[in-house]
Amino acid sequence: PPDVEQLGKSSWTLLHSVAATYPETPTSKQQADMKQFILLFGNFYPCWFCGKDFQEYIEANEVQTATQDDLGKWLCIAHNAVNKKIGKAEFDCNLWKQRWKDGWEK
Ligand code: FAD
Repeated sequence: PPDVEQLGKSSWTLLHSVAATYPETPTSKQQADMKQFILLFGNFYPCWFCGKDFQEYIEANEVQTATQDDLGKWLCIAHNAVNKKIGKAEFDCNLWKQRWKDGWEK
């Protein structure tokens, strides 16, 4: 099976980076496409039990795509749900943009 830790770190980097470059004011098509992207990402995620839980999380907590900040915060909260599940420290979601857009730990 794929390395769940390495896969996860790379995947979160991709997802948070996508949020950081998502438009500030997306069109309704961009919003619908982003919801599909996140859903399908979970559907094809190579760690199957991770993807299954992620899809269940999405069903219970609708992906927020109205603005870049909405998407970034939603992803941060979703990531925190995984952190909690596997016993990792929670991240302060007010800092998501500093971490993933403006950057501090390059
Ligand atoms: P990661 O959690 O990979 O985080 C990488 C970096 O992101 C951190 O160093 C930190 O700077 C930053 N960060 C941390 N938290 C947040 C946040 N909330 N918002 C923004 N930035 C943050 N692993 C399992 O064992 N079981 C699972 O069920 C599971 N499900 C997963 C589901 C998905 C969709 C993904 C993408 C990953 C999943 N993983 C799962 C992997 C797990 O989340 C971690 O990626 C992995 O354990 C490696 O952790 P890490 O300490 O390198 O940091």
